[in-house]
Amino acid sequence: MSARDPIADLRRIAFLLERANEATYRVRAFRSAAKTLGALPAAEVAERARTGKLTELSGVGDVTARCVAESLAGEEPVYLRRLLATEGTDLDEAAAKLRDALRGDCHTHSDWSDGGSPIEEMALSAVELGHEYLVLTDHSPRLKVARGLTAERLRKQLDHVAAVNEALPKGFRLLTGIEVDILADGSLDQDEDLLARLDVVVGSVHSGLNDDRAKMTRRMLTAIANPHLDILGHCTGRMVSSRPAGVTGPGDKGHRARTRKESEFDADAVFAACAEHDVAVEINSRPERQDPPKRLIRLALEAGCRFAIDTDAHAPGQLDWQRFGCERAALCGVPANRVVNTWTADRLVKWTAGRS
Ligand SMILES: [Zn+2]
Ligand SMILES: [Zn+2]
Repeated sequence: MSARDPIADLRRIAFLLERANEATYRVRAFRSAAKTLGALPAAEVAERARTGKLTELSGVGDVTARCVAESLAGEEPVYLRRLLATEGTDLDEAAAKLRDALRGDCHTHSDWSDGGSPIEEMALSAVELGHEYLVLTDHSPRLKVARGLTAERLRKQLDHVAAVNEALPKGFRLLTGIEVDILADGSLDQDEDLLARLDVVVGSVHSGLNDDRAKMTRRMLTAIANPHLDILGHCTGRMVSSRPAGVTGPGDKGHRARTRKESEFDADAVFAACAEHDVAVEINSRPERQDPPKRLIRLALEAGCRFAIDTDAHAPGQLDWQRFGCERAALCGVPANRVVNTWTADRLVKWTAGRS
């Protein structure tokens, strides 16, 4: 028997590729091989590896078959070793300290809306990252392009999350949530009773991003005053870069975008309202968003706001993008005690429940 698990190695490689923002097709090769082989008895996988018949299976190619063979022979696959050797350099100390203080992620998507992976895979990857909790925040109904969840589908998802939690390691919690659209009039795009039931509500503007300053400010202030809103998502809506080629995939439709300038609003008024209503300002870690820009993070800090440093991950490997948000937060001097996801799940849920 091999000391290594070839399926775990394939999943680890997929994770590292995603984290490095590699092309979707490359990641998919490893994820589909892991899925195909994971469904077979270990003895059959070993026999096929021995007789060179792994590639007869759909979803298993030469590269993935070689990784499996190496893994079964007890060696770290060369592909994996290379990935580990070329990983990014360490964060500077302040950012690393902030990253270490984070216990969970409050903004993530699954394939129920525009994410690329099942809820189980997202949760399992969060466990492996050392998170204590993950908040699942799929989109709301009006965001049709991202397959936003109707009230009915969201109710179904809540049952599913309860079932997934049963199967996850003790001590880890998959929390319920939503990334709810802030509509043109500032109302939130989901039934009131559902918003009240969810652990965490992230609210974001996804439409009418070019509203004039006064209208956008009113819209945001109305949403912030809504007792269900816990976290204000990517507040300027800017896109600082279009995605690197090949990164968009069927699971990423909602976030495929060109560069986009910041929405205009009265930031002093908006952050003052966030502080007053105790709504956390999201520091969105996605490389193409980097939202809010640093000058606004500093402004929110001065206004006394809390923050949430979240990934907005649409795939498991992206769950490790928190370090990007931490770097920017550290540059602005955001202390860990202002960041709500440095709290335990209990404290976080107590905070959100106390607010709505
Ligand atoms: Zn969003
Ligand atoms: Zn999102």
